[in-house]
Amino acid sequence: MQKGVARQIFAALPHLYQRDNNIEVTQKDLEKQVEISPREYRRYGRHLIIPEVGMEGQRKLKAARVLVIGTGGLGAPSSLYLAAAGVGTLGLIDFDVVDETNLHRQILYTEKDVGKSKVMTAKARLLEANPNIKINTYEERLTSENALEIFREYDIIVDGTDNFPTRYLTNDACVMLGKPNVYASIFRFEGQVTVFDANRGPCYRCLYPKPPPPGLVPSCAEGGVLGVLPGLIGLIQATETIKLILGKGDPLIGRLLVFDALGMKFEELRIRKNPKCPLCSPNPGITALIDYEQFCGIGEKDRLSREVASVTPKILKEEMSNGKKITLIDVREPHEYEIARIEGAKLLPLGELPERVNELDTADELVMYCHTGARSARATQFLRGLGFRKVRNLEGGIDAWSIEVDPSVPRY
Ligand SMILES: [Zn+2]
Repeated sequence: MQKGVARQIFAALPHLYQRDNNIEVTQKDLEKQVEISPREYRRYGRHLIIPEVGMEGQRKLKAARVLVIGTGGLGAPSSLYLAAAGVGTLGLIDFDVVDETNLHRQILYTEKDVGKSKVMTAKARLLEANPNIKINTYEERLTSENALEIFREYDIIVDGTDNFPTRYLTNDACVMLGKPNVYASIFRFEGQVTVFDANRGPCYRCLYPKPPPPGLVPSCAEGGVLGVLPGLIGLIQATETIKLILGKGDPLIGRLLVFDALGMKFEELRIRKNPKCPLCSPNPGITALIDYEQFCGIGEKDRLSREVASVTPKILKEEMSNGKKITLIDVREPHEYEIARIEGAKLLPLGELPERVNELDTADELVMYCHTGARSARATQFLRGLGFRKVRNLEGGIDAWSIEVDPSVPRY
């Protein structure tokens, strides 16, 4: 558009520049506290000319303190855009290092970062994008012991985690401190995003009072995720965060936005505050942070893996080399079998095991395996329950087999 034409349009819309007295007061207060340097004027120029942002909004952004939990699929794009937009203080919490399997979606990291600390790599990258902001890093697990102390330092929490214990922990800590929680989850082609703010709407426990049984809902590591999906969903989180800071527009409070990439559709579900919510109702049953691993039954899943009869990849290899006759059963899905398999294994997906169990012989030495050992532990337990005495689980699955025994088997 020609500059002259733009000026004419703006001249015709004088209301865009009107400000009421209340905003003027806020603006004066902000002006005293937050200084925008001449270089920042230029950097944020395209923000400053939006009436809903302007100098006042840019000062609000600079004064804001946002904590991003997890610098993975969701945290990478959201933190990058929040940094670029000029959010003055960003906190990053993640205990992990960059892995090759992160690179198809976690766009903060490059090939040369594999093996390095995520938060430190992210900090360097974000400061390259915008050196005018401050970044605090927490290279640790978020726990019931440190959550309240860390959250207290921030105005808004952005939940980019991929597991249920951390989601409940984040929610509970946010409700207890009265902070908004910009929530999202992703799986394969679908994403969900909302804003939980118990002062104005429901919390995560209003929507999901109880966690799903352990192992029922697969993680992205187990079930996969389309690389671009966390980009889309993470940027909706960044957008909602910026709107909350500016105090503009309609936040996703009480609305769950469900995105389907295959259908390319957004659906909106109303979510209501549960008057009997154990956390955010007037008389809550939960008043302190709890053991979230136990609450989500994580210990149960580990216990099962520990308790079933098992064999390590090295010992299995020795037994096979010594001529012991072993029947290997692969309980993964056919498309996983396509990626990689152990030579000679029979494919029998876990879901089909009950109806195809007659294909197995109780007299055979059976070793069950999957990707990392959890599904095959369930298969082993199932067969033991049916009277199979010679069945064992391959510890760590085909992934451990590739690392410890046969590197020619691709890891994924
Ligand atoms: Zn609630």
